[in-house]
Amino acid sequence: MTATKIAIMGVGKIARDQHIPAIAADPRFELAATVSRSGGLDGVENFATLSELIAARPDIPAVSLCMPPSVRYEAAAEAIAAGKQTMLEKPPGATVAEVLDLARMAEEAGVTLFATWHSRHAEGVAAAKAWLADKTITALRIDWKEDVRKWHPGQDWIWEPGNLGVFDPGINALSILTEIVQVPLHLTGAELSFPENRAAPIAADLTFAGPGFIAEAAFDWRQEGGEIWQIAVETTAGTLRLIEGGARLFLDDSEQTVHGRGEYPDLYHRFGDLIEGGARDVDATPLIHVADAFLLGRRLVVEPFNE
Ligand code: NAP
Repeated sequence: MTATKIAIMGVGKIARDQHIPAIAADPRFELAATVSRSGGLDGVENFATLSELIAARPDIPAVSLCMPPSVRYEAAAEAIAAGKQTMLEKPPGATVAEVLDLARMAEEAGVTLFATWHSRHAEGVAAAKAWLADKTITALRIDWKEDVRKWHPGQDWIWEPGNLGVFDPGINALSILTEIVQVPLHLTGAELSFPENRAAPIAADLTFAGPGFIAEAAFDWRQEGGEIWQIAVETTAGTLRLIEGGARLFLDDSEQTVHGRGEYPDLYHRFGDLIEGGARDVDATPLIHVADAFLLGRRLVVEPFNE
């Protein structure tokens, strides 16, 4: 089997922590180059721009775009136009229209576009989805709370428009929600707390309506003393809880045995399958819910945030 050569664009925290090790461990991929403004990786050919990579390395058919969402559309459009199989970190774009446009372009070009949602690949998610498939939900509650200073140190971009603020982690919860709950949900209300010196929210409280139940979500970046990444679903047959970002699953307080490759190894496995099958996977639903929160959300101004 010949490994597919792949280039990573945006060599930051997530590229180093997850993408590079996942590619190294996957025999179907070989990291052949980077596109990095800051120099890339020792021993891997680096290009300052995607255009230079495309011109110099026609032998690289795939790219994985790991930069912030506000600068992803232009690069993704260029990659697709050049015929590259393209993987997008989450969130897939800064706006819903961007993502739908990229999906259209990929369809027309006949290339794979994979808009990833890494939390959907957490070990407990598939089992949670399977268990919920024939259950009647009566209530749902998401708590997604972490310390922004711990998880996003020095990332000024995350506070800029188009980069989501607290929805950057919160959209992970929404990606799990929209994977495991197979009935339609729509946002009915939101309160977004903006630090007075920032352009993006530091906290958000959301309410959704589903058929016969209400779902509530609390996202907060001011959490101290350990993160909480939990989804609890009440059903007529008992309570399901996903904790630790979806890695652990409980049914009525009894922990279930779950299996998986791990989020990022599973993402690359899926990307390999999509490329082999000539397929695409672009689901904008989590981003639609975030967009609705900005549409419906009442804006509260809270104390300034300084790192
Ligand atoms: P990061 O550490 O700030 O890295 C982003 C990289 O993108 C930068 O190092 C830079 O790499 C490149 N870049 C290109 N244009 C940029 C711009 N205008 N502003 C800032 N960086 C730019 O961020 P990250 O945590 O890796 O997050 C990147 C994406 O991954 C986001 O969409 C985020 O939601 C997602 N993600 C992050 C995590 C996490 O735990 N951090 C987890 C899952 C997903 P070069 O210098 O190489 O050009």
